[in-house]
Formats: sequence, C-alpha cells, structure tokens
Amino acid sequence: MNRVYCVGRNYAAHAIEMGHDPDKEPPFFFQKNPDNLLLEGQDFPYPSKSNDVHHEIELAVALKSGGTNIPVEEASDCIFGYAVSLDMTRRDLQGQMKKLGRPWEIGKAFEHSAPCTAIVPAGEIGHPSEGQIWLKINGEMRQEGNLNQLIWKIPEMISYLSDLFELRAGDVILTGTPSGVGPVQRGDDLHGHVEGVGDLHVKVI
Ligand code: MN
Repeated sequence: MNRVYCVGRNYAAHAIEMGHDPDKEPPFFFQKNPDNLLLEGQDFPYPSKSNDVHHEIELAVALKSGGTNIPVEEASDCIFGYAVSLDMTRRDLQGQMKKLGRPWEIGKAFEHSAPCTAIVPAGEIGHPSEGQIWLKINGEMRQEGNLNQLIWKIPEMISYLSDLFELRAGDVILTGTPSGVGPVQRGDDLHGHVEGVGDLHVKVI
C-alpha cells in the first residue's frame, strides 16, 4: 500500500445532504494514512474523542502503476482493481475543523478508519462505471446510490491527482460516498455492497 486518496462530495445527493451545492463546489481530495486501512474480517473499534462516528460507503480503486500528468484516456491502464470500502468519519471533529477552516485529519485519518475488502482485479470484473452501491446497518438500508452518479469519473480522478502528485503502484483512491451517511453505534453490523465488486462486512466494537 502506498497512499490513500479520498474524494469528497463526489455524489450530488451527498453534497446536498452536507449542505453544499454540487454545481458551485466541485469535488476535492484529502488523504488518509495507508495504515488506516482495516482489512476484511477485522472489527472496527469505535474511535476516541468522538460521539458521532459516521459511515461512508465507497468504491475503492487500487493502482498497479502511476506517474504524473496522466491523460484521462490512459488513466484506466493504471488500475489494478477495485474493492468495497468505508470512509469512517468522526463527523463531530470534522465539523469543528470545517468551521475553523482547519485540516480534516482528526476527523478522517484515524486508526482503522478505512475498512476495505480484498482487491478484485480489473482483469476479472472490468472497470465498473455503473451498478448499485449501498450500505445496510443491522440489515436496514441506510445508503443507496449508483456508480453512474459519480460526479468525477474514475479516470478523471486519476488524471487530476496525477497533475498534483506522483501516483504509484499501491495507491488507493476512495471515490466518494452516496447520500444517507449517518452515525454508527458499538455492536452495529455494517454490510456494504458494490455491484460487480463485492461485499464488505464490519462489526463496530
Ligand atoms: Mn468519503
């Protein structure tokens, strides 16, 4: 694993639920730490200093190559595969930082904040551009969207990032979450799904 890039507000309905106008404010990036990834089968420990930890179900993209200034039409060649992931967020701390105009690290880049399935190679499943993405908690549907609602498409994200950073094999990009984000509680069973990619099961402890 190299770097973990995350896209913010990449589904219009989620941007609106967070109080933003997707037509006026385009998506943007932040990072988590590579060791924040929580591998499939492990429990998510409720983190310190927060009483409002939210789930964000996301499609993750893993790169097998990188570079700089990658054209959109060549970006898919950099993709190794895809995974189902969660961008777990201390929403209360993130909200405080937003209000003060400060960085989001304490809200986003904490231990175990990125539960993720094993990567499914694009050689097996192709490059998904549509398909359901959803999250259930204890069997109840909470988030629902479709990959065809992504504002920035995956090749566009890779190209854009490669103008800012040198992308490398082992980089992971979390592509944003559909609407319906909300709090989790200790004891919850989270079940995330991305059509054509797989299922992620995480217990909050
Ligand atoms: Mn997110």
